[in-house]
Amino acid sequence: MAEAFIALGGNVGDVRASFERAIALLCEDGAVQLVARSSDYRTPPWGVADQPAFINAVIAVSTSLSPRALLARLQACERALGRNRGHERRWGPRPIDLDLLAYDDVALHDFGLTLPHPRLFERAFVLVPLAEIAPDRVIAGIRVRDAVARVDAGAAEKLAASPDGHSPRTTA
Ligand code: ATP
Ligand code: CA
Ligand code: CA
Repeated sequence: MAEAFIALGGNVGDVRASFERAIALLCEDGAVQLVARSSDYRTPPWGVADQPAFINAVIAVSTSLSPRALLARLQACERALGRNRGHERRWGPRPIDLDLLAYDDVALHDFGLTLPHPRLFERAFVLVPLAEIAPDRVIAGIRVRDAVARVDAGAAEKLAASPDGHSPRTTA
């Protein structure tokens, strides 16, 4: 089994409910198992300013899928939850976005899949939840707790666990 980190984001509809559905769909068979889930964070939009705030979270999974098969599953989950890339602008509003941040220590730059995720280290909305569940993970030679110290982490506001939702889990 490989270990992968997945970033969840969205700013259309009941995003926190979409996260729960996305995680359930992703893990509906044994090929992807949830290992850890961060809190949800409210974060300012990135790239395109004139849109509602985003909700972001990160999960760790263990998986028997290859990186490409895992990405295909993430994209199938996005579609099942109402994402339609044909009706979007880049970095604009969307119900859900599932990005593969890292897959073991795989480094690749292929058509349609770059690992680790190329914009990971610029993004507080990714690093803050990632640091909550995996501060000591090293990605591309950089420890997550060091990476998060270099961004404006104050922009990410941690949300209380939703009453009908999850409790954040971290690995022991
Ligand atoms: P960003 O990649 O800057 O976060 P985005 O998530 O809004 O932007 P999308 O429209 O969701 O971009 O995806 C664009 C393409 O990125 C996808 O078609 C996918 O093939 C590709 N891609 C490359 N590497 C990754 C990765 N590590 N995780 C998810 N998608 C990736
Ligand atoms: Ca993204
Ligand atoms: Ca994406």
